[in-house]
Amino acid sequence: MAGLIHPEDLETVRERSRIDDIVSSFVMLKPAGGGALVGLCPFHDEKTPSFRVTPSKGFYYCFGCGEGGDVIKFVQQVNNMGFTEAVEFLADRCGIQLRYTEGDGGPRHEPGLRMRILEANQAAAEFFAAQLTSPDALAGRVFLDQRGFTREHAEHFGIGYAPRGGRDLLNHLTAKKFTRDDLVKAGLVREQGWDFFQGRLLWPIRDAGRSTLGFGARKLYEDDRMPAKYLNTPETPVYKKSHVLYGLDLARKNIGKKNQAVVVEGYTDVMACHIAGVDTAVASCGTAFGPDHSRMIARLMTSDALAGEVVFTFDGDAAGQAAALKVFSSDSTFSSQTYVAIEPTGMDPCDLRIQSGDAAVRELVARRVPLYRYVMKNTLGQFDLDRAEGRLGAVRAAAPLVASVRDRSLVSEYLRELAGMVGMDTDTVRAEVQRVNNRKVAPEPERHPRQEATAEPAASGQVAMMLLPDAGDRRLATERGLLKLVVQHPSLFPDDWGGVVADDFQHPSYRHVFEVAAAADRSQTGFAQAIVDAMPDPVGEQLVVALSVEPLLAEPSGAYAREYAARLRLARVVRDINDLKSRMQRTNPVEEQADYNRMFARLLELETQRRTLEQHAVGS
Ligand SMILES: [Zn+2]
Repeated sequence: MAGLIHPEDLETVRERSRIDDIVSSFVMLKPAGGGALVGLCPFHDEKTPSFRVTPSKGFYYCFGCGEGGDVIKFVQQVNNMGFTEAVEFLADRCGIQLRYTEGDGGPRHEPGLRMRILEANQAAAEFFAAQLTSPDALAGRVFLDQRGFTREHAEHFGIGYAPRGGRDLLNHLTAKKFTRDDLVKAGLVREQGWDFFQGRLLWPIRDAGRSTLGFGARKLYEDDRMPAKYLNTPETPVYKKSHVLYGLDLARKNIGKKNQAVVVEGYTDVMACHIAGVDTAVASCGTAFGPDHSRMIARLMTSDALAGEVVFTFDGDAAGQAAALKVFSSDSTFSSQTYVAIEPTGMDPCDLRIQSGDAAVRELVARRVPLYRYVMKNTLGQFDLDRAEGRLGAVRAAAPLVASVRDRSLVSEYLRELAGMVGMDTDTVRAEVQRVNNRKVAPEPERHPRQEATAEPAASGQVAMMLLPDAGDRRLATERGLLKLVVQHPSLFPDDWGGVVADDFQHPSYRHVFEVAAAADRSQTGFAQAIVDAMPDPVGEQLVVALSVEPLLAEPSGAYAREYAARLRLARVVRDINDLKSRMQRTNPVEEQADYNRMFARLLELETQRRTLEQHAVGS
C-alpha cells in the first residue's frame, strides 16, 4: 500500500472530527466563556489550566508551553503518531473510508490497522467472557469465588477465560473474518499461530472510552508454559503499558467528579475497591505506576489541581515503604496532594475486603495520610529523637523533603509539623532547614502586602524564592489586571508600557514578572512562554501561567491598556502622596524649613501627576 491521502478525504476528516470530542477523551475540559474550553495541558506539567480549545475555529493552544494546532496535529502529538497515521486514526473514529492517490511509493502505515485491532480485541473479549462459563474454566471460577467475586461481578468487569486448546481464539476470530496477520499485530495470536493467552483468567484493559486495548491474564495451572503469574498483552499499536490503566473506563467519570484517584496494585484490588464503593480505583498493568500514568489521571481531574488527590495503597511492610519512597523520589509531578493509604496488617484491598468487608476498604482509603508525611516519618524513624544530636540529624535529613514541597504556601505548615514531630521549636527548625537548603525555602509569608513589598529586595542577579500573591487580594487587583494584559496582549501597549515601571508594583512577585516581561521580545509568538521560562522557580511559573489564562475584565484594546497603565501609576502616586504627607506631618516647617519646602514642592508635583493620571485612568 502506497500513496497519499486524497485531499478531499483529508478535508472530510478535518470537518467531521470535532476537536472538543477528540481532546475530551484525553483531557478534562471546562467551558471558559466565548465558546472556548480549558483544561490541564497534556503536553507539559501544570497545576493551572492553560490549555485552551476553540471548537469554532477547530484549534487548540497552550499558553503554558505554546503547543497548538488543529485536530490532526493534536492526535499526532498526543498519540505520538505521524501525519498519515493520525488522519487514519481520525478517519476510523468517524467512519470515513480513505482513498489514496499515487505518491512517492515509500513504505507507510496500513490504513485502519488501529481500528481493526480494536475490533479484534472487542471480539476476543466477548469470546473470552463467554468461555468463563464453560466446564474448562472451573479453575477460573474457583479463583474468583475464593476472592469474594460473584458471577455478576465477573460480568460487570468483563472477566474472561482463555481456553487451553492452543488455537481456539485463532479459529474463532478467523471464522469471523479477522486475518491471522491482524491478530498477531493485536497481540492475540503468536507468530506461529498459537493463541497468546492459554488457560488463564483474563481482565480486559480498556481506555477511558471503553475500547479494549489489551488484556491482563492470571496463571491458573501449574503446568502453564509461561512461568509468570501475570501476563499482559505485548506492546501493540494500541497497547502501550506506560499509557494504560486497568479500571480507567469505570473510574474515569468518578475521578473527575470526586477529584480523587486511588492507585492500587492489582486487577482484583481494582475490583474489590469498586465493589466496596471506592469507584475511583485504577491499577497500572505489568509495569510500575509512572509519570505518564500520573499525567493521565491528573488530566481527568478538574482544573483545580490543588484540590485533587492521588491516593496510593501500599503494603505496610518494608517493600511497601520502599515503593512509597520510590513514588516520592521519582514522581516529578509530586505535590502535597499525593497520599498513601497503608493497611497496617499488610493486606491489599482484595484480601481486606474478603477478611473485613466493604467498609474496611472504604476506611483504608479514608485513613490516607499525605505521602510527604509518611516518608518524613520513615526518615525521622532512623534517628534517636531523645537526644539533641539525633533531633538535629533528623531535621537535616528531612530538610530536602520540606524543600521539595511544590506548593510554597504549605511550607510553613510543614515546617511546623516537622518541628512537632521532632520536638523542637519551629524557628530553630526553619533556620536549620533554610541552612541545609541553602536558603531555598521562602520566609514566612507576611500577612500585609505592604510589608511584603518592602521586604528585602533580592541581591542583584539573584532572585529569592517567589511568593504566590493572593489572586483575590483587592489591594493588588490593579497590579494583577495590568500584568494579565501585559502577558496576554503585549502588543497593545506603547513601547514604554504606558510609563509603567517595575517600582509601580507593590508585590515583589508581580514586580519581578513585569521586569522579565519588559525585557522579553514582545513581537515573538511565545512571549508568555518566554516569561514562564525566565521564572526562577515553579511558583513564578505558576503565577505567569495563571496570568496568561485568567480572563480579562473587558475587551482588550490599546485604549484599555493605556487606561490600565494609568490606573497602576495613579495608585503608586496616591501611595507616594500619602507617604509624603505623613512625613510632612512629622517635619517641623520652621526648624526644617528647607526640607519641608522641598517636600511641599514634590507634593504639588505629585498632585499634578495625580490629576493627569486620574483623567487617563478613566479613558479621557
Ligand atoms: Zn502546555
